[in-house]
Amino acid sequence: MNPSKWLLLTTLLLPSINADSKPAAETESARFWLQNGQQMLGQSEQLTANHRRARNVILFIGDGMGISTITAARILEGQSLIDNRGGEEHALSFELLPYLALSKTYSVNQQTPDSAPTMTAIISGVKTNDGLISVDSSIRRQEKSAAVLRQHQLKTLIEQAEQQGLSSGVVSTARITHATPAACYAHSPERDWESDAQLPADTDIKDIARQLVEFDLGNGLEVALGGGRSMFLPNTTPDPEDQGKFGNRKDGVDLTETWLNNYPHAAYVYNQSGFDAVDVRNTEHLLGLFERSHMKYEHDRSNDSGGEPSLAEMTAKAIAILSKNRKGYVLVVEAGRIDQAHHAGNAFRALTDTIALSDAVRRARQLTSSQHTLLIVTADHSHTFTIAGYPERGNPILGLVKETGKTGFATDKNGLPYTTLGYANGPGHRGNGARQDLSLTHTVHPDFLQEAAIPLDSETHAAEDVAIFADGPQAHLLHGVQEQSYIYQVMAKALGFKAGQ
Ligand SMILES: [Zn+2]
Repeated sequence: MNPSKWLLLTTLLLPSINADSKPAAETESARFWLQNGQQMLGQSEQLTANHRRARNVILFIGDGMGISTITAARILEGQSLIDNRGGEEHALSFELLPYLALSKTYSVNQQTPDSAPTMTAIISGVKTNDGLISVDSSIRRQEKSAAVLRQHQLKTLIEQAEQQGLSSGVVSTARITHATPAACYAHSPERDWESDAQLPADTDIKDIARQLVEFDLGNGLEVALGGGRSMFLPNTTPDPEDQGKFGNRKDGVDLTETWLNNYPHAAYVYNQSGFDAVDVRNTEHLLGLFERSHMKYEHDRSNDSGGEPSLAEMTAKAIAILSKNRKGYVLVVEAGRIDQAHHAGNAFRALTDTIALSDAVRRARQLTSSQHTLLIVTADHSHTFTIAGYPERGNPILGLVKETGKTGFATDKNGLPYTTLGYANGPGHRGNGARQDLSLTHTVHPDFLQEAAIPLDSETHAAEDVAIFADGPQAHLLHGVQEQSYIYQVMAKALGFKAGQ
């Protein structure tokens, strides 16, 4: 979000916003709800399943985007729009997709999973253990033998696409070597082996960045856009954006050069101007690494010295390059930092990154047809994020709870006000047992950390189901409560691939 949009947002978040709009009781009459229901029913009756084969699959992952995150982001975006009533009735772009299922996210060894086994389940159809990247659960974590690793590798949808002559792309706002994007193209017994500097000395397994540029199925990944530049540059090579900083690699290999040497029409970019200048017609393989580590949160993006494309811009560029292949493509797009903002206990950035994901999905829908493209939006896992209390309609979602018809804020047993948004655990825990008085705290500020019941340095993932939204060929197969690994089956079927081969 740019600063002017933030200013608009905070202005609109003030309770006075609703002063000239009619109270809900006047506009939301019994007649209104019945008419609204009739309209929705009519739309549902029009719905027909698309049994075609998909030419393309676009899979969006909101990392850590639990259902409470979607609801709060919906209200936040609704409250930032001029014609809003309260924000609650608004919808993010992907909430308008016609098919919906729930995804059970547990991994083989954990009730509450991390991103490595969950993305492995989504992209290979097999659940595995925490920390493992597209290898099965019978391998030892941090196994050191490449020969053993090969016996446990799982075939990913991206690999199948390349084998079948389709194009493929991976986009993330996190490091492109981070667990979620890595599970698309790499196989590793340890999610942290992102560059050779993280590898133990006595292993012959390749680091994840190297696996990305040496991907040898089909004609390799066509698009890889995200953060994580240091994983590709030697520790003697100065970073092109951050003065005085260097790459991370110990082997002296510049993997961005390897990428350029691999393919005849390849490009490597690291900032906004390079990204904007990419000639889509003459570029077959595009590598974009816009930060040494993760890309900026959407709220902070405009402050970046080198400039960074938004998730929507990266999605559009990826589609432009991939759609040149008439056989089709598989594209995975991750909003990787919703998760990281939640870990930090910072709802503002988690929600504004969720809105950026919604923008990217909207752009993808504009650029593709639901006749030929299966589009899925889901999360790998949830977070301990809650929307609570009894705030009145239109109460600022980032604000303190104010109840309908009452003056002043709602208070706890000790007379202290509280925010609507909170976490079960995390760094937002304040005081020693006693709560802090937030009466004069600017809780809608981007840097405010929502309160947490249990003090932890990093807020944790949560185990409840996440949503799967879908449209396009075979999207109707996403219904009911499903194992997370089922998402792969629907994508493989839509493309006419045999599962696991
Ligand atoms: Zn996480």
